[in-house]
Amino acid sequence: MSIQRKRRVGILGATGTVGQRLIHMLREHPYFEVTALAASDRSEGKPFADVCNWKLPFDMPDAVKSIKVYPCKPPLDCDVVIASLPSDIAVEAEAAFAAAGFPVISNSSAFRMHEDVPLIVPEINPDHLDLIPAQKKNRGYDRGFMITNPNCTTIGLVMALAPLQQRFGLEAVMMTSMQAISGAGYPGVASMDMIDNVMPHIGGEEEKVEVEPQKIMGRFAGTKIESAPFAVSAQCNRVNVQDGHLESVRVKLGRKATVEEVAEAFAGFTGLPQELKLPTAPVRPVIVRTEKDRPQPRLDRDAENGMATVVGRIAKDTIFDFKFTLISHNTIRGAAGAALLNAELLVAKNLL
Ligand code: NAP
Repeated sequence: MSIQRKRRVGILGATGTVGQRLIHMLREHPYFEVTALAASDRSEGKPFADVCNWKLPFDMPDAVKSIKVYPCKPPLDCDVVIASLPSDIAVEAEAAFAAAGFPVISNSSAFRMHEDVPLIVPEINPDHLDLIPAQKKNRGYDRGFMITNPNCTTIGLVMALAPLQQRFGLEAVMMTSMQAISGAGYPGVASMDMIDNVMPHIGGEEEKVEVEPQKIMGRFAGTKIESAPFAVSAQCNRVNVQDGHLESVRVKLGRKATVEEVAEAFAGFTGLPQELKLPTAPVRPVIVRTEKDRPQPRLDRDAENGMATVVGRIAKDTIFDFKFTLISHNTIRGAAGAALLNAELLVAKNLL
């Protein structure tokens, strides 16, 4: 796709774990350039390089170093806002930007489950963007609107569930996660809680993972989404891994299938981002590994630049129909990359 002019991006929460990933992923992007950065009053008014505790194993891009950090209030010098703020802060900030005429792409849970807010995974439900006119009408927005991407545990899960739902139907899902420390932002969970330990509770996580998949895999019905009718039971654990959420999944399907057919459904899964060749889209959204000890966080989280879900250990289950293990990079496919792919989809659909 050829782009006439680059869209100017403003990042809310630019100094955070997800904000830094976004800045890295946006360097030399064919559709976008970063023109505005915002964070808390701790950072306000200072050059980004002075206030950002840069934690990625790549240099901070020169282009953002001297950008002055603004408060998370409109206006900002940009065409679109990508927000990665704590959700309690996002409630007010994201709505304020949308009301002020900015398209807002959000990483937080603040509006994900609102009936008129699209919760988008471009490979699965790009048609849910058609909720935007209803949202603008409900909320009295003129040019602004909000779209969201899922929780970082949900996204790996739905990338594996969607091919199964499409091919066999889906009746029930049970998922146990082993989630990376970076999922809690920086500084995140205290090191004294993580070393030699597993935390069997992540506040609000199970509740999110138990409802977001049905909205994402639901049917667009004019002014709302009819949730898909399968149940999800989730147990979420924080483990001592830097990046990458590993998930053990069991599924009950709508019809009988073989292990080979399930593996084929995963490996053959593709969607609109692949068709449109969006810059951040993985060529293979779901990768199947056949080794008995894969996927693993260190070996598989960076597949397709962190944008693929890697699935392995596919087997018949004695209680459900099938079981398998997956990994998804939480700060890339689970956050910054998800938001960026949504932004690219908006450009492709002439919504930006
Ligand atoms: P983080 O590392 O704690 O960063 C938080 C960001 O928000 C920082 O830029 C911080 O700015 C800013 N901020 C904090 N309080 C603020 C306030 N009162 N007003 C304005 N800005 C404020 O968190 P994160 O991991 O990047 O997560 C950001 C959002 O993305 C959260 O909603 C999270 O649930 C979601 N998310 C995270 C992940 C992940 O893997 N980490 C994945 C999916 C979704 P200062 O530096 O100035 O304090």
